[in-house]
Amino acid sequence: MSKHYDLIAIGGGSGGLSVAERASSYGARCALIETGRLGGTCVNVGCVPKKVMWYAANLAHALDDAAGYGFRLDYFGFDWRKLKIARDNFVRNINEWYLGYLARSGIDLISGLARFVDAHTLEAGGERFTAEHIVIATGGRPQIPNLPGAEFGISSDGFFELDTCPQRVAIVGSGYIAVELAGVLHALGAEVILLVRKDQVLRPFDAMLREQLMARLREDGINVLTRTQIRAVARRANGSLNLHCDGQATSLHVDTLLWAIGRTPNTDALDLAAAGITTNSDGTIPTDLWQNTAIPGIYAIGDVTDRFHLTPVAIAAGRRLADRLFNEQPQRRLVYESIPSVVFSHPPIGTVGLTEEEARNQHGDAVKIYQTQFQPMYHAFTARPTQTYMKLVCLGPEEKIIGCHLFGEGADEMLQGFAVAIRMLATKRDFDETVAIHPTSAEELVTMR
Ligand code: FAD
Ligand code: NDP
Repeated sequence: MSKHYDLIAIGGGSGGLSVAERASSYGARCALIETGRLGGTCVNVGCVPKKVMWYAANLAHALDDAAGYGFRLDYFGFDWRKLKIARDNFVRNINEWYLGYLARSGIDLISGLARFVDAHTLEAGGERFTAEHIVIATGGRPQIPNLPGAEFGISSDGFFELDTCPQRVAIVGSGYIAVELAGVLHALGAEVILLVRKDQVLRPFDAMLREQLMARLREDGINVLTRTQIRAVARRANGSLNLHCDGQATSLHVDTLLWAIGRTPNTDALDLAAAGITTNSDGTIPTDLWQNTAIPGIYAIGDVTDRFHLTPVAIAAGRRLADRLFNEQPQRRLVYESIPSVVFSHPPIGTVGLTEEEARNQHGDAVKIYQTQFQPMYHAFTARPTQTYMKLVCLGPEEKIIGCHLFGEGADEMLQGFAVAIRMLATKRDFDETVAIHPTSAEELVTMR
């Protein structure tokens, strides 16, 4: 006899946990199937351990900056292993907290790799389970390219297993993970080569952000090679790697190679065909705006779909889906617009809404840009004269703000409040009418001319 539920979430990451938790708060009988550790990518090999490393990198920069503020420091280096142990413990505590949380919420945890038997039946851990509603929230995993010796490289998952800081590392890619880990590794002492296959990093971002980040990476001492691709990797007798490339370099020697070229959705083990679901060509599961797949009663949320791959997006989609299914809110859904996001580079990037290029393509001359560049006061005393850049993209005579792009210290914490204002359709005048907070960088956003 199979056990029956109102809702089963496949995947115990940001999306699966949030939909099961919200559904069970409405009295639904819920189960969650997870093959690995609770918390998924974000907690185990994503946002959480990454942010710990970003904080460490910030401290390394702060130590450099301290002399400008009069500190005389004796510096005895950085203990990567000590931080890794503390970070792993921190993550383990979150895993354990989730175990208790599921129990307290009355959600059954089923350990195993789920696969569909039919549209309402799943098999995991040798048992069968049925549900009215099945939510696929299986996330993704790092891509490794198909070229000779690619297996000698590691992915972001492997980065979190490193026991020591690599001495010389090549990072391949130009997205969030490539630039974030390049900044962290460089700040913590590695010599970093960033291999970008086209002309710039973060191509979907506003040009100001892309250009300034590229310049910053290079000024910091990261060797950014554009239009360069690896063709083969060979391991040498001493364990180091020889990279055969096309582009700005033809041969590179490194001790660590890190692939950061995107992620593949986890759909292959699910036997989606048994449920009647077909995937997009990239493996993601097509859904409508309400997270419905083509099969009634089966939904998909988070990184396994083709929309924004961010933790708060997976959480918001999961919660709204539960509101719709179990709390009589038939139209409730996540609106995939004005989603703010931060790249934890050094300094960080904060971005929400349309880029200048997108706005001009959509609205032509009705777009007005406000832009500023300044040295934050903090850097008046450091040996790193880092500038901050800000751009507001405004639309129409009322100057509705449809894009906000920030690059500089504090951009990560600055953006959230401005994202609220933009979601509430704030205009440039609303910004101008807001009294500034002084002395901050954020005040520049309400005083731009
Ligand atoms: P996941 O969190 O990946 O969860 C899916 C779960 O499903 C996994 O636990 C997996 O084991 C399980 N699973 C898969 N297949 C099966 C199966 N067949 N049966 C049972 N279980 C299965 N986002 C941010 O917003 N901010 C950040 O700073 C940030 N940093 C990141 C840094 C890195 C290095 C990475 C890789 C990602 C980062 N992200 C960040 C993205 C964020 O982690 C993801 O968007 C988010 O985790 C997606 O949640 P999800 O629930 O869709 O999938
Ligand atoms: P991204 O999709 O951000 O970037 C990958 C990029 O690598 C591609 O856009 C492409 O850029 C380049 N690329 C693709 N294939 C190759 C190849 N074969 N060789 C060289 N370069 C290649 O993926 P990431 O892996 O960086 O991150 C995955 C997702 O996780 C992100 O999109 C984001 O949603 C999420 N994330 C969020 C974070 C945050 O919120 N701070 C942090 C980390 C991840 P191009 O076409 O320009 O070459």
